[in-house]
Amino acid sequence: MTHDFASHTTGSKTNRRIAPPRVEVPETQSLRGEGGRQTHEWQQAGAAVGGLLRVPSVPAYWNAFEPSNWTMRQGTEDSYYSVDLPKDSPAFRQIVDYIQESISRAPYTSPAKEDARMQAVREDLSLENRQRLTPIQRKKLEQRLREGDAGAPSPPRSRNVEITRVECIANEALWERYATAVQLYRQSRVRKGKNGWTPRRDTMKLIKWARGEPPLIGARKSWSNVPLPESRMRECRLTGDPLGPGEAYLFHGTRPEIIDLIMEGGFKPWLAARQNKNSPEAPPKYGLLGQGAYFADSASKSMTYDRCVVCRDYDCVDASCLTPEGDRPVRQIVLSRVLLGNPDFATFYRSRRAQGVGVLPDGRTSVVSNGLRQAPFSLGASMMNEFLIKDRVLAYPEFRIHYRARKD
Ligand SMILES: [Zn+2]
Repeated sequence: MTHDFASHTTGSKTNRRIAPPRVEVPETQSLRGEGGRQTHEWQQAGAAVGGLLRVPSVPAYWNAFEPSNWTMRQGTEDSYYSVDLPKDSPAFRQIVDYIQESISRAPYTSPAKEDARMQAVREDLSLENRQRLTPIQRKKLEQRLREGDAGAPSPPRSRNVEITRVECIANEALWERYATAVQLYRQSRVRKGKNGWTPRRDTMKLIKWARGEPPLIGARKSWSNVPLPESRMRECRLTGDPLGPGEAYLFHGTRPEIIDLIMEGGFKPWLAARQNKNSPEAPPKYGLLGQGAYFADSASKSMTYDRCVVCRDYDCVDASCLTPEGDRPVRQIVLSRVLLGNPDFATFYRSRRAQGVGVLPDGRTSVVSNGLRQAPFSLGASMMNEFLIKDRVLAYPEFRIHYRARKD
């Protein structure tokens, strides 16, 4: 009797050993022919695909909270749960590091009168919405339309910030959609090469990350599609599960009322069509990467799209908006898991401005542009990295980050 299973079946009480649970999905390496054992292509392909199938049912850290820690949030249509990450948790610290490091490595000043912001300001000031604005809000937004002119406010820029709170969002419907997309993507990424069936190379390595490394927040990247062994996964304290190939944590900044809608119903890339109000027949205006939901790997860029909750202006440092304690008001941005998958890279000469939400080259999942810092903006290059998805299932809004600009 040489192995556990045999001794287990002898029935002898003294000799009884419990067989360890069988690992259903062997790692790819162990499938190579060893000791004269032949493996077949279909076995290798099956193992490669099997390895790709292991998508965690939920982020492991969700279960680190007591069920009673979660607060149910009732949205206008759907509900979801939220819980505050403890400030002394590794997850909280890593998110703070990611934000601070991306701001210091990639500080950002928006171009004056940037289209996306001006459009949002005009929407606020439109006949149907302006009734909801206070006189101060109206005045500040009207000034904002003259951004960069003499006597008008400067374009928003990144500032040193203090993270006051990180809310984790658990939204069952959104998670199921996202996890399904990840699973399908992982299944799709195999090819037959000289070593047999292997996972396809992760093309995300072509991205020049703002932080210098992929934004994983505690998750160790598995550069092949093969999941990390359990021992390594335990190192991933934040999410408990490594982000898979094609996934990254990215920021999104917008108005506070829209952030509520994102937490409830996810991103809606098809709403990003901006009609040219001056000539309604003209084609709608999209950003550099086309129509869709935009993300950044530097918090500094996303923070130029959210608003002061008091005066509704961008980048507000006004004394009149300070809290009774003398702090700047708390603002919010979203940090999401995004499945960039196999990106279509937009370049300086090949922008995707004209492409609507239904347009993507075959086999591509997202649109990515590596930032060109010294390039002339007028030619369509973006200074910072930009990321775009056209399908709502490709992003999961996982964290609502509450922050305020430090008084510098
Ligand atoms: Zn303000």
